Amino acid sequence: MDNNTGKEKFQDDRLAPMHTTEHIVNRTMINLFGCGRAISAHIEKKKSKLDYQLERQPSEHEIAQIERIVNDVIAQCLPVTTYFLTQTEAAERFDLKRLPDSPSSTVRIVKIGTYDECPCIGLHVANTSDIGCFSITSHSWDENSKCWRMRFRLIQPKKIASHKKERATECQ
Ligand SMILES: [Zn+2]
Repeated sequence: MDNNTGKEKFQDDRLAPMHTTEHIVNRTMINLFGCGRAISAHIEKKKSKLDYQLERQPSEHEIAQIERIVNDVIAQCLPVTTYFLTQTEAAERFDLKRLPDSPSSTVRIVKIGTYDECPCIGLHVANTSDIGCFSITSHSWDENSKCWRMRFRLIQPKKIASHKKERATECQ
């Protein structure tokens, strides 16, 4: 597992637009390919990578489709909100394996409009309108591991006003 999925990096607000995009891309991949969320993520300020376990390599048409859907979701200006479930409730609905161990009895769920819900401790933008334009810059396929890697960036992300930042510590 990459250490940049760890807690500290999740709390870096400069990565909030990229990290929020990761949620949207994950849901788009689940919808299009019936796969799981990214098996590995390298989220950086300028360029990020996501790896997916797929049965086959996506076609250029499908890759263009991923890009279009993610941008459509971003353009809907969806609010990014959070709520809490008990560990038991959350375990029934979500895969909690990727969450860092927490002594908390509750699990924080991050919701992007009605598009995606996912347990996450990280810092996100308050609204998808703060993300910018999503662009897949390159991708590669490893036939042996059936792993598809995509690299993406966000073009002209808008400045996020500090009052709009959603703080992970706020509700805990
Ligand atoms: Zn998150």
